[in-house]
Amino acid sequence: MTILPLYNHILIAFINLIGICLAFLVFQYSPLKWIKRIFLLMIVLMFLWIDFAYLARLIGSENYFLSLISIKIAWFVTPLLFMCLYFLVRYLFGEKEKYSNLDKFILICGILLSIVTLFTSLVVKNIKFIGSQLTIIYGKGMLPFLGIVFFIMCATLFFLFKEYFRSTEKTRTKIKYILIGAFVFYLANIVFNIFFPLVLKVARFYWLGDYSVIFLLGFIAYAIVRRQLFEIKVVLTEFLVGAIAILLFVNIIGSKGIFEYFWKSTLLAIFLVFGYLLIKSVTREIKLRKSLQVAYRKLEELDKAKTEFISIASHQLKGPLGIIKGYLWMILNEKYGPFSKKIKEPLENMFKLNERLVKVVNDLLNISRLELGRIKLEKEYFQIEDIICDIYKELFNQVKRKGLKFIIKKPKEKLPKIFGSKLKIREAIFNVVDNAIKYTQKGFVKIEFFQKGSLIIIKVSDSGIGFSKEETKNIFQSFRRTRRGAILYAQGAGLGLYIAKKFIELHKGQLWAKSKGENKGSTFFIALPVETNSIEKNKF
Ligand code: ADP
Repeated sequence: MTILPLYNHILIAFINLIGICLAFLVFQYSPLKWIKRIFLLMIVLMFLWIDFAYLARLIGSENYFLSLISIKIAWFVTPLLFMCLYFLVRYLFGEKEKYSNLDKFILICGILLSIVTLFTSLVVKNIKFIGSQLTIIYGKGMLPFLGIVFFIMCATLFFLFKEYFRSTEKTRTKIKYILIGAFVFYLANIVFNIFFPLVLKVARFYWLGDYSVIFLLGFIAYAIVRRQLFEIKVVLTEFLVGAIAILLFVNIIGSKGIFEYFWKSTLLAIFLVFGYLLIKSVTREIKLRKSLQVAYRKLEELDKAKTEFISIASHQLKGPLGIIKGYLWMILNEKYGPFSKKIKEPLENMFKLNERLVKVVNDLLNISRLELGRIKLEKEYFQIEDIICDIYKELFNQVKRKGLKFIIKKPKEKLPKIFGSKLKIREAIFNVVDNAIKYTQKGFVKIEFFQKGSLIIIKVSDSGIGFSKEETKNIFQSFRRTRRGAILYAQGAGLGLYIAKKFIELHKGQLWAKSKGENKGSTFFIALPVETNSIEKNKF
């Protein structure tokens, strides 16, 4: 028997142990049956590969025939392992029906190649020993062998990259782990199993290529069971405590004298107590995290139910409010004949209150749609100037009644059109201008709009109550108001800016605000991107 360096034995034992752990982890925690099967097959192939290559070196020249068979078995599993990795990737991410011809081709090639390697001398022709150093003499089939393995390697990488670019963030993280594992494995194989022995004629580092498979399996196992890592933590703690306990126990057996027995047993007893406490605390922490996860999921469900409720309730309210508005408008316009002057004012108040209710119901409806992701954007090309002038006209009387200056500053040149939902963008700008009027008691409200690069900027400034720096962060959140804003206009709900910001963001734009402080006025900015093709369209 050849004497191999000690680290070699330790490494082999270590890799085998890791292999068993990985197999256990995936078997225990992977929800997918097929993945489990392929992964376990990969682990078995890894054992065959690594252990037989090790065995060949261990047996050495003493039993040349057994060494050769061992090396052939190690080489026999190589294409199978590469093939399994390909199918694992296909089953984990791909659509099984597509590329089925490629699947069949790889399956047939992999199996044929393995059989040829095991039963003929085409790939592994012979082995020779220089001292205890095993060197493989390759046959004529070596290059085709490498070619096919390389092809399977490329097909696997192709799928990994393809899936990477079209999948969600969560799947991408999984793919990243497998890519890292595959990359280390492929690189180590190319360098230590091909480049060194074939090109540099150095076979000394051969084992590095073989052993790199553990990285591949480690990363794959991590990608598969990542979500269950909490439980794995317990398993690992138990495993560690168990392993140390066994070591301590074995240590007792070899003791000499009663005193040694005594202190080693005491050490084991103390360790067992602490080990037990450690496992208990880890289990408790995991239970806590799990219950937190459950509570969080419940909260999410409740939040969704609340949003659904708001959505249904506001839908139900919207219809009757519209009808009331219609009737009131007809009464006020004497469509049902003249009415007594005494009830004109109450009727007008009713109309205004109804308008406010309609606005609140609309805001609630918008919020629920935004939260449920049910906002529909009916996009079209339009001039921002049309919307702004329209809002200006609509709010003009209100501003004049308050005794404020209402300024509109148009750009000298015609702006390019915007492509988006006219209704939603109008609603967003309206909310901002309406606020500027509501929160300004004297002075002015000014609307400017212009183009800056690929953006159209709408700037709404006022000389109103303003807000502090801290408040700037909050005003865009739902149901949040400034202290002075709530005093000045008690009826506000704190929804307008939240909705406006969301609508603008749906158009890849931005909404932000500045104020020098309380009573120092404020400026709101809306930036909307200009569609490049709309600029071109405008030219014609
Ligand atoms: P609402 O006006 O209904 O309260 P908004 O979401 O439109 O809700 O506004 C949130 C808060 O931001 C307002 O309550 C007010 O405190 C503050 N705010 C909005 N616009 C201005 C403004 N132009 N000047 C000062 N404060 C403002």
